[in-house]
Amino acid sequence: MLGAGQLGRMLQQEASTLGIELYFLDKSKDFPAGQISKNIIVGDFKNYDDVIAFGQDLDLITIEIENVNTDALLYLEKKGKIIYPQPEVVALIKAKGLQKQFYKDKKIPTSEFNLYDDAQDIKLAIKTQKLNYPFVQKSRLAGYDGKGVAVIRSEHDVEKLMSVPSVIEDLVNIDKELAIIIAKNKNGETKQFPLTEMVFNESGNLLDHLICPSTVSDEVLNKCQSIATQIISELDMIGILAIEFFLDKTGKVLVNEVAPRTHNSGHHTIDANINSQFNLHLRSILNLSLGNTDSIKPSVMLNLL
Ligand code: ADP
Repeated sequence: MLGAGQLGRMLQQEASTLGIELYFLDKSKDFPAGQISKNIIVGDFKNYDDVIAFGQDLDLITIEIENVNTDALLYLEKKGKIIYPQPEVVALIKAKGLQKQFYKDKKIPTSEFNLYDDAQDIKLAIKTQKLNYPFVQKSRLAGYDGKGVAVIRSEHDVEKLMSVPSVIEDLVNIDKELAIIIAKNKNGETKQFPLTEMVFNESGNLLDHLICPSTVSDEVLNKCQSIATQIISELDMIGILAIEFFLDKTGKVLVNEVAPRTHNSGHHTIDANINSQFNLHLRSILNLSLGNTDSIKPSVMLNLL
């Protein structure tokens, strides 16, 4: 497992019940997974040599964060290691520009976008009226919990621009934010959890709480479910995939982004579903039958930082 954060810790708890031994690569034995596992190898999952040294004696390599050294994973894959999700998929998803282009190429609905090199490039586009307010800037490199996102509503927000390679997207008039977690195993079996509704904290651009099941219409539910199935099959990926959607005020469903790992839109599944997202992730990468993802009861999850 590349990463020993809170997702790694929750995966370790599930792995213990399945009798699977996990090893983690991360910067400190004190990280969350280290509090319940002795198998923390100290190193940096962004560093090529550390990832190769870590992976060479393991049977199967997976991730709890997408911001890992995918060149090292590609090398290990060439040497015959089993890596799920596949490194090419992780590389595509972690580059937000490539991810958006993928949706466009596959005709998957998403907000309109353009790519820019830095803040100066963006300011020039504003000046020459190639770009109009309002818009959303997203760093094309590592973003997490809203940290690589700036909402620019007017000239007063221009100082918020980050000087990084960016995707600039239309600001969606959001009615609700929704998410589905889906997984596929090597046999081609797929399973998804019920649709969740995420309520965001506007100032931090991060999740405040979520509600499951969502109260949207069957039409919106069916649309989200079929887009989720389409994305995992177009990516041809094995493992778990979280898909975040916007439902806009006209009733249109747009894909915001995906994450090829367990996700904070699925933590309620630990208590509220027959099997959790952590169980589903481990089952999918081990090519086990994917089990039952049904809810036992409605639930709400609060995000405490
Ligand atoms: P992160 O990867 O950091 O979670 P997201 O792309 O999910 O970043 O953006 C964080 C939040 O910012 C979204 O959940 C949403 O509330 C808001 N946001 C992002 N993109 C847009 C957009 N195009 N229009 C309106 N709001 C957006």
